[in-house]
Amino acid sequence: MIAAERLRFAHLPTPIEELPRLSAVLGGPRLFVKRDDQTGLALGGNKTRKLEFLLAEALQQGADTVVTAGAAQSNHCRQTAAAAARCGLGCVLVLNGEQPACPDGNLLLDALCGATVVWVAERAPREQVQLETCERLRAEGRHPCFIPYGGSNPTGVLGYAQAMAEVREQGLDPDWMVFGTSSGGTQAGLLLGGRLSGWRGRLLGISIDESAAWLADRVSELATQGAEKLGERCRFTPADVLVDDTYCRAGYGVLTEQEREAITMFARREGLLLDPVYTGRAAAGLLDLIRRGFFARTDTILFWHTGGQPALFADAYRTRLL
Ligand SMILES: *Cc1c(COP(=O)(O)O)cnc(C)c1O
Repeated sequence: MIAAERLRFAHLPTPIEELPRLSAVLGGPRLFVKRDDQTGLALGGNKTRKLEFLLAEALQQGADTVVTAGAAQSNHCRQTAAAAARCGLGCVLVLNGEQPACPDGNLLLDALCGATVVWVAERAPREQVQLETCERLRAEGRHPCFIPYGGSNPTGVLGYAQAMAEVREQGLDPDWMVFGTSSGGTQAGLLLGGRLSGWRGRLLGISIDESAAWLADRVSELATQGAEKLGERCRFTPADVLVDDTYCRAGYGVLTEQEREAITMFARREGLLLDPVYTGRAAAGLLDLIRRGFFARTDTILFWHTGGQPALFADAYRTRLL
């Protein structure tokens, strides 16, 4: 158990399921999926685990509003809006893009949960607008809490250190864990949790948008800072972090044939729904690496389903999936 202040709103432990039909068509290795798309809060996903720690901290600091940021179809923002509602806090989301005529996918859910959206142009500095938004709220007498992109700070990291402890308790000891990585908090938490629990397997992050070098720096720094939060003396270096950035060349959120193939294959072989931005890309990487013989046929792989399915119904993706 991770020793830090935490709220409890996730449905945990999430199930681990085997994917025998997918393993069979690929000719091995043995595949399992960790259903973190089923964390329960407003359609679930990986940000819910981080938010259990982040919102405990926000409440402890006397915040009355949380302010976070992301892409228009951000799953992190949707889960933050729901967590804030559940804790009686206000929520302001700074989103990149243009306000659509009718909110769809995650945007619809953000609105249902009562979040206010501040739109910033696609390439504008989102974080600066987020800081300005906090300033404005303070001037209005509110007490905002700034939650970074992806919920990835040393506190958010603890959610995935805890998730690693959860898998260890579930008794599966895979050779590999594979997942999509973007803001790095999930990978940092798993890295920290693996070290703390003496796990001997390997973590492989499939990058969704960032370079392997940037992620290795970021993940090792976040994991070290997460350890400090816990009063643990672990140090991590970029050499401890394995990221494959060969599947993100099309750019963030660009749905290509590789994602389409992975999404339809998981759905048709296992009835498992991936998302168009994160798990579709991560699964495409996993399938390609399996086909290229990266893993041993006898290996056991745990794939983390980190959620994101509401984006399947967003116009930007819905019309390009088939
Ligand atoms: C945010 C997100 C990720 C990436 O997690 P990070 O902690 O930002 O690296 C993966 N999958 C989904 C569905 C996400 O929403």
